[in-house]
Amino acid sequence: MLNAKVEEALNAQINAEFWSAYLYLSMSAYFEAEGKAGFAHWFRVQFKEEQAHAEIFINYVQSRGGRVRLMPIEAVPTEWESPLAVFKATLEHELKVTSLINNLYHIAEEEKDYATRSMLGWFVDEQVEEEENVKKYLDALSLIGDNGFGLYQLDKELSARVFNVPAPLANKQ
Ligand code: MG
Repeated sequence: MLNAKVEEALNAQINAEFWSAYLYLSMSAYFEAEGKAGFAHWFRVQFKEEQAHAEIFINYVQSRGGRVRLMPIEAVPTEWESPLAVFKATLEHELKVTSLINNLYHIAEEEKDYATRSMLGWFVDEQVEEEENVKKYLDALSLIGDNGFGLYQLDKELSARVFNVPAPLANKQ
């Protein structure tokens, strides 16, 4: 069984994952409207990943006999100045998510909930990858600046991203 403190923290994280999904879907819609289909596609994949993260937490709470409580999802931004501004906001957001995961890990340790701590290990590793990925495209966009051909090339590269069901969820299907 989950103790009340861990259960509450996991429910808060489910909401945070859905907020992330909502944010990336909003970014995808922004790019779609701007005529950047590759960027829009990349953020649509990002949206699906965040939804999957929420589902991993939902499944986990249920597997421990806990109660999932879905809360309202707060509004997300809908406009950005440029692709660079979107990726800057994305990195900032991922750094915040990393601190949320670290905080959860800390709570699990404090409460001596080693099963939750073990489950969170996957998310700790996932955040390293998220930050690295976003930083890579942020660097590329800084180099590209206003260069139309550079943006065209990056849009093409981003359009090739494939959504893979994250391992902890794939194992459940
Ligand atoms: Mg996530």
